[in-house]
Amino acid sequence: MSIPEKIQLLEAELTPQNCQLVAVSKTKPHDLIMEAYHAGFKRFGENRVQELVEKHQALPKDIEWHMIGHLQRNKVKYIAPFVDLIHGVDNLKLLAEIEKQALKNQREIPCLLQIHIAQEQSKFGFNEQEIMVLFEEDAFESFTHVRIKGLMGMATFTTDESQVRSEFRTLAQLFQNIKQNYSLPNVQMEVLSMGMSNDYQIAVQEGSTMVRIGSSIFGSR
Ligand SMILES: *Cc1c(COP(=O)(O)O)cnc(C)c1O
Repeated sequence: MSIPEKIQLLEAELTPQNCQLVAVSKTKPHDLIMEAYHAGFKRFGENRVQELVEKHQALPKDIEWHMIGHLQRNKVKYIAPFVDLIHGVDNLKLLAEIEKQALKNQREIPCLLQIHIAQEQSKFGFNEQEIMVLFEEDAFESFTHVRIKGLMGMATFTTDESQVRSEFRTLAQLFQNIKQNYSLPNVQMEVLSMGMSNDYQIAVQEGSTMVRIGSSIFGSR
């Protein structure tokens, strides 16, 4: 199956469930991205700043670029002029830097707060308690250029489906809890980014509104 066909099939599955597709194009060459682009698909995700900047410069300007990977504070300035959504905001200092760079570029930058739901130590993100404190204290009050659009999380890399499901369910409940109980000026809880090639169907069943899929579209890396 061609790349456009794979994307079309995924979108036909996701759209009725109110879920958006981010095609994760990391490590993949321009021509593969352009195959999808020419078929009308324009939402791509990258996890390295340098690669994201290079692709943004080289490829059509109406592509919607998502930064899905771990983001270091000193690199925010490179993507601030154009990035459409930053998925992995995992600390307040990073959010403050995004605010600063957004202000400099006179634009708003939509962000997702990354929540640590997996068992693995290595995954980044706030824990549940930390995130509740942030909303309780309105830690985002001083920010005028970052927009908190929702939450993002990654499940444990395991074949144990029930564990993956329970982690996604935990994140979805946290998302609903915040959405229902906190109304803050620069927070709009609209996006729940969870699910990758191996686990997206479970994520969608548990309420994901945005999946990040790479290898099942572009092939293994
Ligand atoms: C690479 C990556 C994905 C996509 O993974 P696939 O297994 O290729 O679908 C999704 N989210 C993040 C944060 C990634 O780094």
